Amino acid sequence: MSTRRKPIVAGNWKMNLDGAKARSLTEAVAARAGEAGSVDLVLCPPALYATTVAAALGLAAGNSPSGVALGGQNAHDKESGAFTGEVAPGMLRDIGSRYCILGHSERRTLFGETDATVNAKVKAVLAAGLTPIVCVGESLEERESGRTEAVVSEQVLGSLAGIPAADLAKLVVAYEPVWAIGTGKVATPQQAQDVHALVRSLLARLSSPTVADTIRIQYGGSVKPDNAAELAACPDIDGALVGGASLKADDFLAIAKAFG
Ligand code: PEP
Repeated sequence: MSTRRKPIVAGNWKMNLDGAKARSLTEAVAARAGEAGSVDLVLCPPALYATTVAAALGLAAGNSPSGVALGGQNAHDKESGAFTGEVAPGMLRDIGSRYCILGHSERRTLFGETDATVNAKVKAVLAAGLTPIVCVGESLEERESGRTEAVVSEQVLGSLAGIPAADLAKLVVAYEPVWAIGTGKVATPQQAQDVHALVRSLLARLSSPTVADTIRIQYGGSVKPDNAAELAACPDIDGALVGGASLKADDFLAIAKAFG
């Protein structure tokens, strides 16, 4: 992790918890956020509980007393309209969100999102004044057939096509090897660092080395308290996108502390 970039650790709660548990987990993280040190903390609850989390964080006029930010797990690429069941970026913003995960591998594999879909969403989320957390990552089969570099390059270049350097500077990229998500199989620090360096070089190609040097790249995939420190020690790993371990305040905060 670079001293130039403030680490960012985000919890992706996926489709878990209920309203009461969402509230108590938020309160527990907010109360102890200071333990994490100098790290941006983000909670990404299911859309239905976003207002519960916003209230528990005491979000008002874009301010968070605890410093913990709210994020969406997905958004539509249109501002409003006949899109039953969808959530617009402006709605996330309206309830106090600052971030939105986009192109998570579960969205790509289970809901048919392509790089073009993700690209449209990134533009819409930026236009709404939110920070996209753009996910990329290869499957096990792609890694084992030596295609990691090609797959990740295509995803980064496709998902971020046509985004001006000034906007690229605002976003976060999450490298999440699909084979490591929810499997307990974490990438080795070297495997992760190699892909993070590749992503940074692609970001430099899309903007400039100076801009790319400021962009935060998270690692995601079975991050736990006992493997976070070795990932945090890698020069191009600037935080974590955490699934399972973000559902326990102790684990989430311990991971954040490893980066802080
Ligand atoms: C994720 O879904 O973004 C993720 C990284 O999940 P887990 O930490 O459970 O592997």
